Amino acid sequence: MSLTLYDTYQRALRPFEPIHPDHVGLYCCGPTVYDYAHIGNLRTYIFEDLLRRVLEFNGYAVRHVVNITDVGHLVSDADEGEDKMEKGSRRAGESAWAIAERYTGAFQADFRALNLLEPGIWCRATEHIAEQIDFIAELERKGYTYRTADGVYFDTSRQDNYGYLARLDRAGLQAGKRVELGDKQSPTDFALWKFSAPEAQRQMEWDSPWGRGFPGWHIECSAMSAKYLSPWFDIHCGGEDHISVHHSNEIAQTEACHGTRLANFWMHGYFLQLDAAKMSKSSGDFLRLQTLIDRDIDPLAYRYLCLTAHYRRQLNFSWEALDAAQTALTRLREAYWRWPAGGEADADTVERFTAEVNQDLNLPRALAVVWALVKSELPDAVKKATLDSFELVLGLGLASWQPTAAEPIPSEVQSLAEQRQAARAARQWAEADALRAQIVALGFEVEDTADGVRLNPVATAPMI
Ligand code: AMP
Ligand code: ZN
Repeated sequence: MSLTLYDTYQRALRPFEPIHPDHVGLYCCGPTVYDYAHIGNLRTYIFEDLLRRVLEFNGYAVRHVVNITDVGHLVSDADEGEDKMEKGSRRAGESAWAIAERYTGAFQADFRALNLLEPGIWCRATEHIAEQIDFIAELERKGYTYRTADGVYFDTSRQDNYGYLARLDRAGLQAGKRVELGDKQSPTDFALWKFSAPEAQRQMEWDSPWGRGFPGWHIECSAMSAKYLSPWFDIHCGGEDHISVHHSNEIAQTEACHGTRLANFWMHGYFLQLDAAKMSKSSGDFLRLQTLIDRDIDPLAYRYLCLTAHYRRQLNFSWEALDAAQTALTRLREAYWRWPAGGEADADTVERFTAEVNQDLNLPRALAVVWALVKSELPDAVKKATLDSFELVLGLGLASWQPTAAEPIPSEVQSLAEQRQAARAARQWAEADALRAQIVALGFEVEDTADGVRLNPVATAPMI
């Protein structure tokens, strides 16, 4: 079944074909490690994990690269202000290197808690300074750079199609260029290398042919994706905020240096909103995965919540929706746990699920297929085997879950069950059926087994 993905560059759904038959190159812009990731950032990584899983579900081997931005990302995306790492270091009273280490570790722990597949390659900007200098030197040789008092800049006027990814209105930007241009020749030009200011006492700085300093934020992704994939590879991802600056600049650099536009597909995850505003690290007011864990929410319930919204739609966070996701996940786990092994996956259901995930990762509709399966009349062992085959995409850890202790049956349910037994003994069938209906309404089903009556929590489609 063919896989269709939305390409931001062409603003269109396109059938996916890999460049090389044996693997798919996937590069995802990683975190800036001056603080913890918030659950908005993590939504983007969940989307990217789903993409990778769907590619693998379709039989592709994925070469997955995620970078760690540990230098060069300035407080403003427009090359202004302090380096976020140096700022984080001052705030915490620790070295920028120690901050990078701590938040990289914290990020990778979040990654694992959300059951995100480990990338084949994690690469740090600070470990690829030579590659970035070589890249800038090549841009200089080809005449795409100029120097100012504070750095080496990319000259975007050299490219007619600069900003096409974002459908940038360059003429409009030029008209308003009085704002914060500094020594730049155009508002869209961007730093490739920044000089250390003599008074700044930077902790992270290197020698270069242009002077002591540090790389601009965008060059690391062009340099490291070329190194670990190739200058032209299959899919490049990030959050929607990267379209207009970061990814437009990555494309400009790679096109100028290598003559290719970097990736065949550009895919972007839409934001998690909090009270209708975007959640951001710089606002200081954000929810971490640990914040959810502290409230007894399973990290995989957050993953489930993200599955309920399409990645190209913004998702408004609410605690109610998260609670509903946790309830749904628990029901799915309990159902899966109860079902016996040894069945075979149901081909029709697998086909419906595949059609949904292959239509630009339509996970909300794929989840509807999952719940239809749970409620179906198929034998339980078949349901289990079918869900097993979906787990490669869903990543909800169903097979590794087990109840901590048998869920206590509420006394009200227990008492109704006893009354139903008494009604059955007295052959009052209508009364017994009415009592069963009351039990079901309280979320339990009655199973009459050879060993007596069993009460099981009902797995039903949740209302989210
Ligand atoms: P950063 O660590 O700030 O470089 O961001 C890491 C990733 O999270 C990038 O791909 C961003 O586009 C993405 N991102 C930032 N804020 C949000 C948000 N509120 N919702 C979803 N993704 C976000
Ligand atoms: Zn990037």
